[in-house]
Amino acid sequence: MPVAVRTLDDGAWISINDSRAVSNSGIWPLTHYEFCDCEVSYVLLESFYDVGVDRHRVLVGAIGQCIECGRQDSIDDLAVGRIVDGEFHAYEPSEFQSLLEPDS
Ligand SMILES: [Zn+2]
Repeated sequence: MPVAVRTLDDGAWISINDSRAVSNSGIWPLTHYEFCDCEVSYVLLESFYDVGVDRHRVLVGAIGQCIECGRQDSIDDLAVGRIVDGEFHAYEPSEFQSLLEPDS
């Protein structure tokens, strides 16, 4: 069954199957993205500008700012969760890093 994904409220939310699934209020510790010069970039997301589904992963494009160094940039293809049997399961930002490994 296809999963409907879109951005809502000028990029404040990711909507999945017409329910608000991911908000832009989270802080995401990024180690696998070259976002800034910090060893771990603690990125406060500010808005989403894109969302899509790649196989079963939900990938978003977002504008964010590192709370350590203040660098603001965009992130393409940030995985925020996965689709299992048509249901969305969000990655928690705190458990996010261990989930970045490629799916087997
Ligand atoms: Zn930084």
